[in-house]
Amino acid sequence: MQFDRRQFVRQAGLGAAALAYSPWAVPAAEPAGFTLPKLPYAPDALEPYIDKLTMEIHHGKHHQAYVDNLNKALASQPELLKQPIETILRNIDKVKPEIKQAVINNGGGHANHSLFWEVMTPKGGGEPSGPLGKAITAEFGSFDKLQAAMSDAGVKQFGSGWSWLVLNQGKLQVLGAPNQDSPLMKGATPILGLDVWEHAYYLKYQNRRADYVKAWWNVVNWQAVADRYEKALKG
Ligand code: MN
Repeated sequence: MQFDRRQFVRQAGLGAAALAYSPWAVPAAEPAGFTLPKLPYAPDALEPYIDKLTMEIHHGKHHQAYVDNLNKALASQPELLKQPIETILRNIDKVKPEIKQAVINNGGGHANHSLFWEVMTPKGGGEPSGPLGKAITAEFGSFDKLQAAMSDAGVKQFGSGWSWLVLNQGKLQVLGAPNQDSPLMKGATPILGLDVWEHAYYLKYQNRRADYVKAWWNVVNWQAVADRYEKALKG
């Protein structure tokens, strides 16, 4: 049977006025609000360092929930749905007070995880060369020291949070952050992030966060991090 929209609307007890506002009346341009980005590799691609089930739940459930809850929160300030999430977080004080914490949590969650998937790869690990490699040596003394500082910030982060390598006023810095608090809210540009929420590792590593952190370095996509660094330098 062919679907008759007008008949359906009449039968649903709605009038012509309702039809005029029907979302079916105009072809959809873009989906309203934020959407879950695709994983750039298969969910089992980071095995054995990060297991398939963790990746599936982390991306498909946790990240999806941040996206959904961000869209829900911004329904009351819909002009922000047209802005990149990075712009919203950089200008967090422009978000209405009653939804600000929801945007910090879920907008941060969306931005942080979008970065996280991109800075990992099955062909990861090693050390960065080029301008990023030089900047790391200049700022931290050596790559090993940068790695130790970031691992330390991740292992010692109390409760849920992230360890970040950021560009802040032209300089590389390592910082730990609780929850989904984005470095963008402090005016810093994240170029590498390590998720140390239990949902990122508990199925495989249980309480052994340090083991997860050590393993994670094997999947870091230094080319992607270098690209972010060079883009951030240009502002
Ligand atoms: Mn996470």
